Amino acid sequence: MIPYLPEAFTDFSKPENEAAFTAAFERVSSQMGQSYPLIIGGREVHTDKRNESRNPSNLEQIVGFVAQADKAIVDEAFQIASKKFTTWSQVSPEERAGYLFKSAAIIRRRKHEFSSWLLLEAGKTRAEADADTAECIDFLEYYGRQMLQLSERGKQTLISYPGEENRLEYIPLGVGVVIPPWNFPLAIMAGMTAAAIVSGNTVLLKPASQTPVIAYRFYEVLKEAGLPDGVVNFVPGDVGEIGDYMVDHTTTRFVTFTGSRGIGVRIYERASKVHEGQIWLKRIIAEMGGKDSIIVDEGADLDLAALNIVNSAFMFSGQKCSACSRVIAHEAIYNELLDRVVERTRALTIGDAINANTKVGPVIDQKAYDKIRSYIEIGKQEGRLVCGGETWDKPGYFVSPTIFADVPADARLSKEEIFGPVVAFTKVKTFTDAIAAANNTEFGLTGSVFTKNREHVEEARRTFHVGNLYFNRKSTGALVGVHPFGGFNMSGTDSKAGGPDYLLLFTQPKLSSEVL
Ligand code: NAP
Repeated sequence: MIPYLPEAFTDFSKPENEAAFTAAFERVSSQMGQSYPLIIGGREVHTDKRNESRNPSNLEQIVGFVAQADKAIVDEAFQIASKKFTTWSQVSPEERAGYLFKSAAIIRRRKHEFSSWLLLEAGKTRAEADADTAECIDFLEYYGRQMLQLSERGKQTLISYPGEENRLEYIPLGVGVVIPPWNFPLAIMAGMTAAAIVSGNTVLLKPASQTPVIAYRFYEVLKEAGLPDGVVNFVPGDVGEIGDYMVDHTTTRFVTFTGSRGIGVRIYERASKVHEGQIWLKRIIAEMGGKDSIIVDEGADLDLAALNIVNSAFMFSGQKCSACSRVIAHEAIYNELLDRVVERTRALTIGDAINANTKVGPVIDQKAYDKIRSYIEIGKQEGRLVCGGETWDKPGYFVSPTIFADVPADARLSKEEIFGPVVAFTKVKTFTDAIAAANNTEFGLTGSVFTKNREHVEEARRTFHVGNLYFNRKSTGALVGVHPFGGFNMSGTDSKAGGPDYLLLFTQPKLSSEVL
């Protein structure tokens, strides 16, 4: 088998790539406004109640109408997934991995189509959409190979004992509920689903309400790849009706969730309750929010730092769990760094993701728009607005990249996740103070340090409490298999998606020992 390597990003400066993207985009654009069913055991289910998915760059454009499951349909999906588990769990790891490899190949062939869906449904610029699609391919390729390795692992790790044959097998858990976010609506949604099924589980996939059409398109790929019916059941719905119900269900063996701190904690608490008839403790894999800092040290390369701060903070409008939302800078370089970041930020083009020169597209929806606006008002009280601060909600939800200077380390802007293009600058006297300020949140997801001081590199390694710590590079853009991703504290269960231990979370090791 070809060794895994992350998928290359598309070079849109090449005319042939630009032309291929444009052709795919036209094909996808002609499919706006279609209706999408639920899929339960391979059967299409249309419902009266439907969710309208809209383009956040242009709210008049309806991307699709998506059926909504109710509790009765969820029950049926659990029954089917449970029945299917008895056979799917016995399918060989090689065969299961094969469905992922085939799906990766299908998506690779049609990658600009998937990126176009991301552009239209999530408001991603083409570069951001291309990266999301590439990451989806990576998860499929990587987890397929990981499953093959995991199935060999038990045999290799046990101590041999005379007169016995001992085996450790990583067997699947059961029926899982997959609850992804909208911000990587292809990559994270596909990665969570793929990890669960390649490990031998069956799932109910409940996509985020803002991006269900992309999830449906992914389901179609699995179907085209030949995945048996009932392994993945596509169950979008109103979380007010089915969210708690799915988590509480006695058939649920595990929940894999990526999303906000609030919902993650809710799921974690609810799933810990053992209901009548439930014969296991549910497993929760929860990846949650972040409040990610970039520390810039005295003597650091300020141009490099400014470039990476702007990329980490404002690409996809700061709507990444790893996005930089605080810059903590040494007083010796604070003003100069701030000037350079502001200059680069002012040069960013904001607008409809459809335009090739757009660098900052819309935010996802009204709720996000309102939340970011409210934090801009808070920022005006807590710091000094030096850039941006403007918002407009027509034709889509746009917020200009916004920078607040002189924000205290314990301000709300320094501690709470905003999830938008808003950055707070804080000045510190020493490197140790910088790390203390960065650690002063309940999150612990990513952090970057720009420094040329080796002692400070080691100090940060020891004391900067984040799951993903980077030096002299951006805080975003973790690559599958290269930078396993997940955070500490209220950033979640540190599951390290895209890492060599991830599939263990979807399995349980079984020991068998035979006297020969
Ligand atoms: P969210 O509001 O928490 O929603 C995440 C998912 O949970 C959605 O599918 C949502 O469905 C569902 N949900 C909401 N209420 C539920 C309930 N009571 N029961 C079951 N499911 C429920 O988060 P988001 O706005 O989509 O995503 C942004 C957040 O995700 C940010 O906090 C970001 O930092 C975090 N994130 C973390 C990572 C990571 O790896 N750590 C990666 C990406 C994003 P509906 O859409 O239908 O409400």
